Amino acid sequence: MSSVDHRDVGVEDLIRRALPGVRALSPYEPGKPISELEREYGVTDIIKLASNESPLGASPAARAAAAAALAELALYPDGNTYELKQALARRQRLDPRCLTLGNGSNDLLELISRVFLAPGRNAVYSQYAFAIYALVTQAAGAEGRCVAAHPLTHPQPLGHDLAAMAAQVDADTAVVFLANPNNPTGTWFDRAEFEDFMQAVPRRTLVVLDEAYFEYVEEPQYPNGHDYLADHPNLIVIRTFSKAYGLAALRVGYAMSHPAIADLLNRVRQPFNVNQVAQQAALAALDDEAHLTRALEINRQGLRQLAQGLDDLGLERLPSVANFIAVRMPQAGAVYEALLRAGIIVRPLAGYRMPDHLRVTVGLPEQNARFLTALGRILPELAGCAC
Ligand SMILES: *Cc1c(COP(=O)(O)O)cnc(C)c1O
Repeated sequence: MSSVDHRDVGVEDLIRRALPGVRALSPYEPGKPISELEREYGVTDIIKLASNESPLGASPAARAAAAAALAELALYPDGNTYELKQALARRQRLDPRCLTLGNGSNDLLELISRVFLAPGRNAVYSQYAFAIYALVTQAAGAEGRCVAAHPLTHPQPLGHDLAAMAAQVDADTAVVFLANPNNPTGTWFDRAEFEDFMQAVPRRTLVVLDEAYFEYVEEPQYPNGHDYLADHPNLIVIRTFSKAYGLAALRVGYAMSHPAIADLLNRVRQPFNVNQVAQQAALAALDDEAHLTRALEINRQGLRQLAQGLDDLGLERLPSVANFIAVRMPQAGAVYEALLRAGIIVRPLAGYRMPDHLRVTVGLPEQNARFLTALGRILPELAGCAC
């Protein structure tokens, strides 16, 4: 058998035919997987604090449900995700027809772009917002309107400036993407700001409220997107099982919206976009409230531990209400590399045009401590200080 040899076959004409929006894209850069660090650096005993995953992991009940679902691998999943929709509808007190399930919430963002974005239209999002918004906008050939974030001196440094965003909405704005709290900044906006924003944005513009970190937020003035659905048919609220529920590997997210919006998304959705193992695990995870409570408690304490430790090291950080902290470092790239060699994966933010920040995910207490200790050793080494 011969292997494929591409040396003499030109593919230039085909590449030229790729959609311009796609050709101009830079692919999303995920956190470095543990296996890759092992391969490349030969390091062992690695901790990954790079992708905002749950350090507690999935609920044991969810793992058991996933294992049980393996018995039926030969069967297609339930394309309507009936049981999971029923459970979510009960919990969220809404009609199951308001729900759209996605292969991660990322899938839902793509479905929204398929339905609403095209050349001649635009999408508005904030500077330093979650990278996927710009990506799905460009891929659809729509114009991305990136609105300047709050300055570092603002109480929500580098956070969304909702008033400035509303001002960028025009007749061609099909979608506005909001992340509350935002990744990678950890910043949030309050009810009053959000209510003013929804008043200012016309109903012909879809407002996508991405609440990937909803479960973690404890601020009393934090707006629960769900509560605004009844009055705003142009609002879609997106949640995920990837973060607080610890099911990132399985890819389950859901959107809550007016049933007519859900119906549109359903037309472009792959019929089996959420696999059966994921559906069963998510269903069990929803029921395990004690596990979620533990995950949130670990996060609450971990945020405090990291914030205190970073303050003790004299580092500036963005205030976060999520499960990660963006830290300002003079030599972020070198610190990232040194942490890798110490077996600790964090997230560089150069791709977000925040080259002097690293983002660290809240881990278990001993993981946070290991990160802080390594950082305390690395920083003076890089500063060339022998102390
Ligand atoms: C992690 C994240 C998501 C995507 O998560 P999925 O795993 O695709 O559900 C969506 N939005 C934000 C802001 C995130 O940080």
